[in-house]
Amino acid sequence: MPELPEVETVVRGLRVSLPGRTILDVRLGKADFIDDPGLLADSLPGKRIAEVIRLGKFICVVLEPEKKISGPEGSSDGRLNFIVHLGMTGQLTVKGAGDPVTLHTHCFFALDDGQEIRYRDIRRFGRMLVVPESGMGEFLGNLGREPLEIGAEEFQKEFSSRRARVKALLLDQRVLRGVGNIYADESLFRARLHPARIAASLTKKQLLALHRAVLEVLEEAIRFRGSSISDYVDSKGKRGTFQQQHRVYQRKGKPCFRCRGKIRRVIVAGRSSYFCPRCQPAPRGRKK
Ligand SMILES: [Zn+2]
Repeated sequence: MPELPEVETVVRGLRVSLPGRTILDVRLGKADFIDDPGLLADSLPGKRIAEVIRLGKFICVVLEPEKKISGPEGSSDGRLNFIVHLGMTGQLTVKGAGDPVTLHTHCFFALDDGQEIRYRDIRRFGRMLVVPESGMGEFLGNLGREPLEIGAEEFQKEFSSRRARVKALLLDQRVLRGVGNIYADESLFRARLHPARIAASLTKKQLLALHRAVLEVLEEAIRFRGSSISDYVDSKGKRGTFQQQHRVYQRKGKPCFRCRGKIRRVIVAGRSSYFCPRCQPAPRGRKK
């Protein structure tokens, strides 16, 4: 599933080609992952793309209000946000309108320069919606802090008060937005913390180490243009390479890079968790 580094990589790619372009036409195939397909198809044509930003794991294409040629300045349309979540297998790419179309491509957004934005999603667990600027407060209210921006002290405060497993907290999008299973496991390994530790039982030093590990792992993964585990590709259709840097994720039975012990897999918070039992000792009274 694309997480923060993958989505950031897609957003950086889209930022090269989209701002300044106008969406001319929307064509939809299967649309069961779109909140309101009619609204999407009606409201996007004619809109000019102002910028592309990332909100956690969401891609947000900000559309300028339509310029009324004869009307007065600032006729009350307001900005629209075209928001895409890639789900498990979503791909948002920019292609030439004449480029071959791959199977499972469900949406086409024609641009005024002969290119088009395409959305492909094999499993269709993605999501697409249009949110007016006035609705963004509510939309963002459901999302936690941005992991690349939260300060060390705030991170420590956020985690130290909670009696939840540290892995579950890292995955909780209402606490931090954008961290998923890969980067939670990789961060916990670097911070030498067992995924089943209770956050409130960790020392300040351990929480500060975890904060640093989350930042380092995410920034490094962005430099490697994300991890391509299954279908993830960037906005040009290229795969990322951070999967070659994983130290624990999906390395069950392989030697730990630090101690040569065997990496193990357990279920924590309902999710597979990869860790090194020697480098990340289990909480007291809990052997597995
Ligand atoms: Zn180890």
